[in-house]
This record gives sequence, structure tokens and C-alpha cells, in this order.
Amino acid sequence: MILTYKYRFYPTQKQMIYINNTFAIIQKYWNKLLLEKNDYFKKYGKILNHTIQNIKINDEYIGNGNYDKLAVKSSLFQLNTLYKISIKARQTLKLKNNYSQKSYPINNYNNRILLEKDSIFIGGMGVISIANSRSIPNYAKINKAIILKTNTNKYFICISFFIEEKAKEVVNYKSAIGLDFSIHNLYVDSNGNRNTKYMSHEFDCYYDKLRKLYAVLKKKKKGSSNYIKIYQKISSVYEKIKNIKKDFLHKESSRIVSKYDIIVVESLDLKDMASSYYVNKETGNKFKLGGKVYEKSYALFISYLNYKCKLNGKKLIFVDRHFPSSQICNNCGFLNKEAKQLNKKTIICPQCGRIYDRDINAAKNIRDEGLRILNTKKN
Ligand SMILES: [Zn+2]
Repeated sequence: MILTYKYRFYPTQKQMIYINNTFAIIQKYWNKLLLEKNDYFKKYGKILNHTIQNIKINDEYIGNGNYDKLAVKSSLFQLNTLYKISIKARQTLKLKNNYSQKSYPINNYNNRILLEKDSIFIGGMGVISIANSRSIPNYAKINKAIILKTNTNKYFICISFFIEEKAKEVVNYKSAIGLDFSIHNLYVDSNGNRNTKYMSHEFDCYYDKLRKLYAVLKKKKKGSSNYIKIYQKISSVYEKIKNIKKDFLHKESSRIVSKYDIIVVESLDLKDMASSYYVNKETGNKFKLGGKVYEKSYALFISYLNYKCKLNGKKLIFVDRHFPSSQICNNCGFLNKEAKQLNKKTIICPQCGRIYDRDINAAKNIRDEGLRILNTKKN
């Protein structure tokens, strides 16, 4: 399994020059090559292949410092490859501008990357100290790293490494939990817990701020210094939202994985989700369910659960998304088609008469279905 950890770091003056030189050169030559390729394609209908080895980097552009030659080569190599691969890949290639996030790869060629306890050594750049370190397992083998600079001028290093999955421990069937995806609470679990902390209105003030900033941005000339300033402000609001979410999702997934041996979730088709509607009972108004924001959070949450389970020898089981989790009565097994309607929160089972909460009942069914799948696999 490959895991990636992201660390913020504060480069020295010299390192900052080195990194920014690298970005500047990549940007300049990336744009130059891409324009040449596009022109050539327009003229001749053929793909212009650049031989990366022969590209001469203009020294006068480098300024007073060095830069990462390998990173420049591999970025341009990547451009070459993507251009050839397919029309679809070609369409994703954009000119690099001054105000978007920047990144470049560092391959662990000749063991260029060395990890210390609170620092990372990178050939050519020297030692960088990392803040808030999540310690990397010492048996991990480094795959590669990426240097990242946000448009709010923060520097990060993402290190990905190979790690062996922990052998599956004997799992305790009693400590199983089912999670039902919920728009407002992220999930509802089979023990009846809803995480009310994860409410969308927590972000309302940030979204308000964004709306205002976008309105200001519209009036600025694209590429002007004022435009870049507003753009940076927008980015930092997005960063804040993202950090709050990620932090929450990390804590929540760690808590669940440490507490339970078996975690059962629905494999959601997020496209399907986005097209379903919620009907307000009183007004009859239809609302589209599942904004992109929620879907992404849930997908991220599942991916965190997935790798944390693998690291800790726990089991994550996916239940088919067509499994009627919200329609089956968990008490008697009766299939109640009416329970599917999203506006019904409380259901009375027509067979056994039990009154239950639709979401908690669904989470229980998901848990039980997961255990059933696990049992069938074993026998
Ligand atoms: Zn029933």
C-alpha cells in the first residue's frame, strides 16, 4: 500500500530561492513547449515530440541560485507523455499562470530523499524541518515526494511511501458497526449515534465570505495585482474550509477504527446520490440532495477509514449500494417499500409494529449485511 503524508515546512531563504527558481523554470518551459505543441498540431495535425534532454535552460533566467534540474526534466517529460497519451489527457494540459498552486515532483532517485525524525533531507536542497510531524513508520520505504506551494504562499512537502499492511488480526464480531451516509451528520451509526458536529451551517460564514470575495474578483482585471490579492484571499478561505473538514474526518475515522474491528459502509454511487431529491413535507418543494461538497467529504472519509483499517488490521466491508438498507425492518425483516421515501424519518413497521428511526435502522441493516458477507467469505 502506498501512503502519502503532507507536511508544512518553512524553507530557508536559500531554499525558497531554489524552490521558486524551479517553479519559474518549469512554468516558463512548460508553457513554451505546450504552445509549440499546440501550434504544431494545428498546422500539421501531428504531435510534436520534444526531446527533453536537448532543452537548453536559459541561465540568465535562473537568477542568484540553483534549481532542481531533475524536477524540471520530469515535469517536462510528464507534459510530453500526457500530450501523447490521449486527446482527453491533452485537454487537461493548461498553461501555468502566476497565481495558481504550484508543485513539482522529486523522485527518490539514488536515495535523494532521507528521512530523519523531525526533518527531511533532499539532495540539492538540504535539510528541511517539518512542522507538526506525524511520524512516518520507520520501516516505510520512500517512493517519491512532491514540493507544493499554495497560492497563499505556504510550502508543503508530500511524501509517499510503501508500507506493508498489517496482517489481519482475529476480528471480534461483537465490535462491528454499520454507517449510513447522511447529508447533515456525515453518517448515522448502528448504535444510534449521529454526529451533530458535522453540520453544514458551520461553514455558512465561510461561504458568505466567498460569495463576497467572488463579487469583488469579478470587477478586477484578470492577472492584475489586485486580482491576485483577492484570488489569494479566496484560496485561503477554501484552505480553511478544507482544513476544518479534513481535520474532522481524520479524527472521526481514527476514533471509529480504534473502537471497532469491523466497519461496514455502503458503496455509494455518488452520481446517483446527486440526482435524487428531497421533498419538503410541508411545502412540497423539491430540493436537490447531495451537493458536491458532501459527496467529496464522504468519499474522503471512506478513503481514510480504508487505509487506517489496513494499517491496524481492521476490516472495512462494503455493502452493495442496491442493498435496500432503508427498506428492511431490522426487527422482523419485513421489506417496506414506503420506507424508501427520504422525507420519512420515523417508520412504523406494518408487520411487527415497531417504530424506528429510518437512518439508524438502515445503519443496523448495513452492519448486519456486512457481517453476513464476512461469514459467507469465511465458509
Ligand atoms: Zn418489522
